[in-house]
Amino acid sequence: MVSSEIKNFGILGWPVGHSLSPQMYKAAFKTAGFPNYNYILLPIHSGKLFFAVEGIKGLEFRGVNVTIPHKSTIMKYLDAIDADAMIIGAVNTVVNDGGMLTGYNTDVVGFLSALAEANFLPEDCHAVILGAGGAARAVLWGLCKRRAEYITIGARNPQKAQALANDFLTYGNVEAFDWLSDEFKEIIQTADILINTTPLGMFPNVDDMPPVDLKILPEGALVYDIIYNPFETKLLRTAKELGYPTLGGLSMLLLQGQEAFRLYTGELPDLKVMQRALEKGLNLK
Ligand code: NAP
Repeated sequence: MVSSEIKNFGILGWPVGHSLSPQMYKAAFKTAGFPNYNYILLPIHSGKLFFAVEGIKGLEFRGVNVTIPHKSTIMKYLDAIDADAMIIGAVNTVVNDGGMLTGYNTDVVGFLSALAEANFLPEDCHAVILGAGGAARAVLWGLCKRRAEYITIGARNPQKAQALANDFLTYGNVEAFDWLSDEFKEIIQTADILINTTPLGMFPNVDDMPPVDLKILPEGALVYDIIYNPFETKLLRTAKELGYPTLGGLSMLLLQGQEAFRLYTGELPDLKVMQRALEKGLNLK
């Protein structure tokens, strides 16, 4: 059934010009029978965030996606925070129910659903996370939720990695290391999965990759790069050449978008339509 109702959505961040969200959600809304749901870019400077959030209410936006640099700072302006987002400390989706704004983090759903699609069971695994930024927090929480047995964080800044590990010690067995240290090199030799959450290798710096010797991973370890542009990063290409199974970031992006769509509309989108919009935006097809 086609609805004539008008609702507004957007992506709030700075910068947001590169975002593929407008194409992805617009295509999904249209196919789901919501041709009058609008989705726009909302480039908002940090100093204006409070007014932007008031604007969501005043202009009666149904929802907004949130990206860098507002994912954490927006939390103090919202009326409620979902439990996952509270633990992660970041919101990437806000839903407006009649002026009541609730923040969610759909990255964790996207990450876990992508793992499930790849038939990887995180329960009882040894997971290695590269990086200690915002995405690492969502990935770490996802692994704790699924009861990974042991989680190792490796990063260029060991203090930051340790602070991240400390935040999650009550939820799992988490340790942090300098990723160039001998301890880290030893410990990753028992990894079941290695997940890159740094931007190393992301477009346009496609020749970069994290400084990890993939050859020392056990046979069959899954190498997962959450970067989605390019579709196959240098890390994944190298892992594939060495015979490891690999997973790229596009499915996480798509599945976190599916979850946001569900929160906005109460319905599940046509994933193929969303995927085609993303692939077109990334010039993949
Ligand atoms: P972030 O908060 O800025 O964190 C980035 C992390 O990578 C930090 O630990 C940072 O270390 C490290 N890092 C950055 N540049 C580095 C370099 N040159 N060498 C070594 N380490 C470096 O960013 P984020 O939000 O977590 O995003 C990280 C990546 O994940 C991006 O590529 C993003 O596109 C991707 N992502 C994908 C999805 C998806 O759906 N597929 C979702 C979210 C994010 P320092 O703290 O030392 O700076």
